[in-house]
Amino acid sequence: MSRENIPKKIKEALLDEYDHRCAICGGDRPHLHHVDENPSNNDIYNLLPLCPNCHLRDQHNPTRRIDLQKLKIFRIYKDPSILRPQFHPIYTRQLFLAEIEVSDDQIEFLEQQVKELIEFISSFEMGEFYSKRIHELVGPTKKPMIIRSLTGGPDPKADKRRKEINRDYRQKLFENKAAVLELLVEMLRYQSWANA
Ligand SMILES: [Zn+2]
Ligand SMILES: [Zn+2]
Repeated sequence: MSRENIPKKIKEALLDEYDHRCAICGGDRPHLHHVDENPSNNDIYNLLPLCPNCHLRDQHNPTRRIDLQKLKIFRIYKDPSILRPQFHPIYTRQLFLAEIEVSDDQIEFLEQQVKELIEFISSFEMGEFYSKRIHELVGPTKKPMIIRSLTGGPDPKADKRRKEINRDYRQKLFENKAAVLELLVEMLRYQSWANA
């Protein structure tokens, strides 16, 4: 927690952004917490003002802390609903998005995760609307059937086409994952439990 290493400019910009208050409870005299717990990463999106309670009692207590990825989402979108237990099942179903690599080969697995996420959120308030939009962004692509050639092996042309489609889909997921997360957070404001 070498807070003195945070450049003054960044420190001031962050405190201004949060009106010198704790990002979680609005309490005053916030400490600056490093979201990724790396005290030398002073990127403003890695810093969160937290009052002594939220900081030391909660965030530095292994049994009470908020997941790092969730805290990152909260840092970006600020919506307090992100920290509600009701968001947790959405959160766990979108975690795979943060781990997608362009070189990832697990296409069927990714498609399954996307399907589950879309299906899950459709039951939320405004969920039909948001699942449709997310489907437009990252819905699985139709692929040609695996056709056997006359010799019984896989048809090399269809195989090539499948590989191209898989590569494009992976790229699409990678490019749109931030937009998907944004839609998920946007959907929260329509839930009866949000900001209640
Ligand atoms: Zn606080
Ligand atoms: Zn800290």
